[in-house]
Amino acid sequence: MTAARNTFSTDQHGWAELLPKRQATSALYSDQRVSWTVVGAGLTGLACARRLAELHPDEEILLLEARCVGQAASGRNSGFVVSTSQFPGAIDVDQLENYRRINRINQAGLELLHSQIAANAIDCQWRRDGFHHTAAGAVALKEYQHFLRYLEVLEVAHQPLDKDLMQELLGTDLYQAGIHIADGALVQPAALVYGLADSLPANVKLHEQSPVLEVGQGSPLTLRLTTATVKTDKLILTMNFESATLGFLKSYMVGSTLAGSFTRKLDREELDSLGSLTQWGAISLHSGGATLRLTADHRISIRNTAEYHGSVLLTDGELAKRQTIHRAAFDKRFPKLTHVPFEFGWSGVEGISRNGTNFFGRQRTNVYLAGGYNGSGVSRGTAFGTAIADYASGETSPTVSNCLASAPAAWMPPRPLLDIAAFFKVRSRFKEVGLDR
Ligand SMILES: Cc1cc2nc3c(=O)[nH]c(=O)nc-3n(C[C@H](O)[C@H](O)[C@H](O)COP(=O)(O)OP(=O)(O)OC[C@H]3O[C@@H](n4cnc5c(N)ncnc54)[C@H](O)[C@@H]3O)c2cc1C
Repeated sequence: MTAARNTFSTDQHGWAELLPKRQATSALYSDQRVSWTVVGAGLTGLACARRLAELHPDEEILLLEARCVGQAASGRNSGFVVSTSQFPGAIDVDQLENYRRINRINQAGLELLHSQIAANAIDCQWRRDGFHHTAAGAVALKEYQHFLRYLEVLEVAHQPLDKDLMQELLGTDLYQAGIHIADGALVQPAALVYGLADSLPANVKLHEQSPVLEVGQGSPLTLRLTTATVKTDKLILTMNFESATLGFLKSYMVGSTLAGSFTRKLDREELDSLGSLTQWGAISLHSGGATLRLTADHRISIRNTAEYHGSVLLTDGELAKRQTIHRAAFDKRFPKLTHVPFEFGWSGVEGISRNGTNFFGRQRTNVYLAGGYNGSGVSRGTAFGTAIADYASGETSPTVSNCLASAPAAWMPPRPLLDIAAFFKVRSRFKEVGLDR
């Protein structure tokens, strides 16, 4: 047995800060005997619990969340719901089936979210008309050529854009080229997970602020929480990089801490100084480049820092320092808006593996796990979460097969070597980032 420390740190920053406060569900205070328990209520866990409830309508599905919904990566990401993943470097013909497999998973997740949002009337600024990939400097322009070729070979609908068109659309002359991918969505991530959590089927019992501290052996499995004990036949872990706190994937996944800022709401004149699109998302073709959004509520968000920080959030002081980096990148793109202050800043932790793979499957008898999407987990996490529910229930589906085909993860050394390796791994994404940051 490995015990998690009972310190699931969080703060109130991020996309949740832009929304009315949500009433969290109660913590778990009484012992339980259940068939199914899901640990972690991010996008993966929410999708998993929803699917389990459909598959087992007469059973109660227990969903335990250490923090409040929206406080982890699923509520703090940049809200790009990807259908087609970009892989750095020239297209590798030996990997064509792998690219297609990953894109099928993305597509499955995108469709699931689309239908769940519609069925439950979730108000989350969902906008499914694609987004832009951008290139300013030499490395990103090379990636632009690689990505165009990849999209052509895979027959993905897209539109290449030159500098003038990029400026006309987004209102910045920084980008020398861009690509608009027709499918894919933008979303307010905290509003999305709030809506998903608040519309779970009646046989899912969600308890927030209920960290699982220990997983015992045996059948049924025993889960220890501070205020209760749960006996469960089957357990599904959807805890992202924090699976390690319960002793799972300890040498395979760590957290990388990203940070971004939001401007205050732009006024009419400021909006008119931008391009013709009233909402957009721009994601860099350089792995260290900035991700930007013009949101439905007229703020610009910019995220361009990532670091290994012990898999935890930044303190307010650290965040303030990162905001000088956000500021420089913002001013460089929007010289007419340098007077516009940042109103909010936030950090978030994404789960990364050494070789960029994802995790899916059985960990030990009656224990299943899905997670770790290396910064691309909104659509993929939804698909993985749904598929792990199917898999653990003995069902098959094309998405289960696609998830099962994930490459084995590369091993990481134990601490303190892990800290050093992770530090350099995350730093390497900024190599020659130049203008794109
Ligand atoms: C700043 C940032 C920007 C990103 N931008 C994008 C983007 O634009 N598009 C995209 O596709 N992806 C993006 N990502 C990645 C994406 O957010 C993640 O891949 C995805 O949210 C992972 O979902 P998850 O449910 O697996 O994990 P999480 O959202 O991390 O959820 C895991 C949950 O498990 C809970 N938990 C952990 N331990 C315990 C325990 N012991 N007991 C109970 N509960 C526990 C945690 O509190 C957490 O709520 C971004 C990530 C970050 C940080």
